[in-house]
Amino acid sequence: MTTPHVLIAGAGIGGLTAALALLRQGIDVDVYEQAAELREVGAGVQISANGTRALFNLGIGEGLLARSCEASGKEIRLWSTGQTWTLFDLGAQSVAQYGFPYVTVYRPDLLEALLDGIRRLKPGAIHLGRKLTGFEQDSDRVHLRFADGQIATGDVLIGADGIHSRVRHTLFGQEDASFEDASFTGMIAWRGVIPMERLPAHLARPVATNWVGPGRHVIHYPLRGGALMNVVGIVERADWQVESWTARGTTAELAADFPGWHPDVQAMIAAIDAPHKWALMLRRPLPQWTRGRVTLLGDACHPTLPMLAQGAVQAIEDGYVLARALSGIADPGDALRRYEAARQERTTRMVLGSAENAARFHNPELANPEGAAAYVGREWSEDRVRQRYDWLFRYQVDTVPL
Ligand SMILES: Cc1cc2nc3c(=O)[nH]c(=O)nc-3n(C[C@H](O)[C@H](O)[C@H](O)COP(=O)(O)OP(=O)(O)OC[C@H]3O[C@@H](n4cnc5c(N)ncnc54)[C@H](O)[C@@H]3O)c2cc1C
Repeated sequence: MTTPHVLIAGAGIGGLTAALALLRQGIDVDVYEQAAELREVGAGVQISANGTRALFNLGIGEGLLARSCEASGKEIRLWSTGQTWTLFDLGAQSVAQYGFPYVTVYRPDLLEALLDGIRRLKPGAIHLGRKLTGFEQDSDRVHLRFADGQIATGDVLIGADGIHSRVRHTLFGQEDASFEDASFTGMIAWRGVIPMERLPAHLARPVATNWVGPGRHVIHYPLRGGALMNVVGIVERADWQVESWTARGTTAELAADFPGWHPDVQAMIAAIDAPHKWALMLRRPLPQWTRGRVTLLGDACHPTLPMLAQGAVQAIEDGYVLARALSGIADPGDALRRYEAARQERTTRMVLGSAENAARFHNPELANPEGAAAYVGREWSEDRVRQRYDWLFRYQVDTVPL
């Protein structure tokens, strides 16, 4: 069987994973990224065992571990009193149960690990400063157009171009308009990355913490071998609705969104110099990802709220499964449809589960310490936690049927 030449729009986590997975299957790939350089607006990401399984299988596990953190524990803390419930030893439990670690990693570090793997196989695979503006497909080729007037031709196109995907828009036209018409969740998210040495000693720990309270929650976890702390705070607030990765707020505005929260949360906030903020939008799962020789992956087809910490992990799974389909099924159109069929139900369930978690983290029962203890005991019992996460973590990207 002859292997297709695959073109990928977008060099985010999903696009780079797909590129590496394809190259490892002996399939030629070119990746077109609109940015002039691969620079990330700093943020951390949690990669659960289902994602690290893929990255280890792609030969970059060691590179990932060298750049990331295996949090030694996971805690729930109450917004008002700081009461702490220790859940489990995240790192050890993940390897014991699922065979692969749970890591937290600075996004530029994850991109670097993926790029290292790609450069080893095809040094010139990534083309920067190439913004896709449109494409046409015929019965056996796809023709891409870029903003700089250049063109490219291949056998398959993968739209890994994120939430406002040009590929999705070109594929689905009018139908895409309803997808673009996202509804505001009434929540905004704040985030910042803090050098660990700026935190008081008792907070500078390699532990992943989820602070819960009525109408708000805060997550923080270590990055880069414990040199950095990633902080995300989510607040129910309706006066700002810009969906942006780059908009900045001020430390004072962030602090004002967490009035009366525990001094440990205030200390974290005070250590963030220039926090980013963005509005959280909800989109209905997209009914179709593929037409002919073109398909989508990651945020382009299943953007999600961050409350299950699975957006990037699912993009990684997509890339891996897509490469398996394209290497094992002779007809590219069939391969893309089989990939879509294998991935759609799971990613839809993840998007819906993530929205449910928002209500769980912000429940009004958390207002008073007495009600809160019963609520946390119930919602974070071993059984409930397993119910919410086990189906995600035990997925085996390398053996799932296609
Ligand atoms: C606060 C927050 C916390 C999160 N935490 C987690 C977490 O803990 N764990 C987790 O798994 N996920 C997390 N996520 C989700 C995760 O970051 C995303 O789901 C993931 O990055 C999606 O990857 P992607 O490759 O599909 O898209 P992107 O990362 O958006 O990449 C798309 C790429 O395409 C490029 N592009 C766009 N348009 C064009 C074009 N026309 N031509 C060429 N290139 C183009 C872009 O420049 C970009 O490089 C979080 C998200 C948020 C907002």
